[in-house]
Amino acid sequence: MDQVQRSPGADAPAGLLVRMRPPSLPADPGFGPGPEAELRELQALVTSEPAVAAERARDLQVRAEALGEPQIVAGALLCRAEASQRTGEITAAVKLIRQACAGPVALTAVNRVRASLLKAFVHNDLGDEPTALQHVMDAVLAFTDEVPRPLRVRVLNKTADLLHKLGAGEDSQLWYSRAEELAVGDPQMHLLVINNRAYAALRDARVEDARAGAQQLTAFSARYGYPLNAASLDTIARIHLLAGEPQRAAEVAQQAVEAAVQVDFRTPDAGSYYLITLAAAELALDRPQAALDALARAQQACADEGCARVKNEILKARAEVRAALGDYRAAYEMLQAFSTADRELLSHEREAQARIRQTLFETRTAREEAARYREEARRDPLTGLRNRLYVQERLGELLASGPGPIGGLSVALVDLDHFKSVNDRYSHEAGDRVLQTVAGLLEAALPPDEAGSFAARLGGEEFLLVMITPSRGRAHRIVEHVRRTVQQYDWSPVTPGRGLTLSAGVAAQHPGDTYETLLARADQQLYTAKSSGRNRISVYI
Ligand code: GH3
Ligand code: MG
Ligand code: MG
Repeated sequence: MDQVQRSPGADAPAGLLVRMRPPSLPADPGFGPGPEAELRELQALVTSEPAVAAERARDLQVRAEALGEPQIVAGALLCRAEASQRTGEITAAVKLIRQACAGPVALTAVNRVRASLLKAFVHNDLGDEPTALQHVMDAVLAFTDEVPRPLRVRVLNKTADLLHKLGAGEDSQLWYSRAEELAVGDPQMHLLVINNRAYAALRDARVEDARAGAQQLTAFSARYGYPLNAASLDTIARIHLLAGEPQRAAEVAQQAVEAAVQVDFRTPDAGSYYLITLAAAELALDRPQAALDALARAQQACADEGCARVKNEILKARAEVRAALGDYRAAYEMLQAFSTADRELLSHEREAQARIRQTLFETRTAREEAARYREEARRDPLTGLRNRLYVQERLGELLASGPGPIGGLSVALVDLDHFKSVNDRYSHEAGDRVLQTVAGLLEAALPPDEAGSFAARLGGEEFLLVMITPSRGRAHRIVEHVRRTVQQYDWSPVTPGRGLTLSAGVAAQHPGDTYETLLARADQQLYTAKSSGRNRISVYI
């Protein structure tokens, strides 16, 4: 029977997801009063009591917001995110992580590491190990001396798990070693790393490595005086099975079941997994009835709604026992039921994953859309040219950065002559077409090599050319070219029997110019052009 591979979220020991209260550790002497100490306490609590920790983190978040403590707010949000991730609410976790990262200040190294690690867990839950690996690598890159050791161990351990899952066995060994070096002295963390490395060996059926891992687990547990948790006992039981020692396997599996019963674990089905291991051991010992009993208990333990995956594993295990008993018909029927249920389960899981991916995608799209709205708000809908808002922002920036290396910035305020009569004599639609055509001619007049130059519509029949040119003469020639092009354009399809002209006022940047002062000079010149007969350009000298 295969070991059931559920996604061990967070740093559940690889293999089985078990949530239990770890034996209490001596209080961290660093814990003092204040929100920081409170946050550290919650970060420790979230592994064993996610719901309680989430509730308290929410409260801390509110108080930290009131106190103006953005790093504590971010930390509290990440704590809530971890609680959500551990209880399988991935969508909520994703949103909380985003919220934490979108705060008003850059995250501290510790918060950055936590955020990246959580992103890795989320992608791991989604079955996307490559992306999870990227995030966990980001976490490693964010390491500083301030990042607490246990957090660094979690990151290194997760990196090793992911590399193993992705088939990079040798690399994963290296990372387990690094994690272990850092974990020595911390019983909980050290045993976690040893367990996960042993579990990787078990998955690969590397009997000798797995056996060495099992021995290490037992030895270190004794040395630290820190009891093995149910998941580690289960790993050891499985290793005995792999090594062909069913008697030892049955004994240790029994201990795992007892350890799981003793603690107040959060996932109701966790105990069932240990009973499945026990059943496998009993079957290997040629005691099919004892195996069936264990499976019946497993069934009872997950009688509630949900637990679909474990129920299915029980079905498969029962089929194996039936086959061993020679009851091939029952075995066959159970296997059929198993594969049907397994298919359904897979499709449910895929649906759920698709929904979460959709959420991830939507938040990304929302950002892209915000950028698109921003861009749209800076364009004139009729002509597609930049609008006044864009001009104000962009021209302000260009002027503030001083004269460019290639000379100057000039503007030309362009106004159509007697445009009102186009509307009056033809139609407003004809007027609109004229505006659109002029817009196209203006854009076409700006040579593509004049990078940074642009045309805009300021409103009505008034346009602006912003030109960054090697010389002022060049800017004047561009405007004069536009004037002639519009005059010579064949307007007969739009305004039969009538041509069109424009007037323009040109001004170049002076030191200390603002948007207002520069445009005022151009406007002055436009007035001159209009009053001296229209269809001409006037340049501020
Ligand atoms: P001048 O040579 O002195 O500039 O005369 P003018 O008629 O061009 O100037 P005036 O400012 O008196 O008229 C501008 C006209 O532009 C008034 C308005 O009907 C028209 N107009 C403004 N916006 C639009 C638009 O979006 N579409 C159309 N079709 N006409 C517009
Ligand atoms: Mg006009
Ligand atoms: Mg006008």
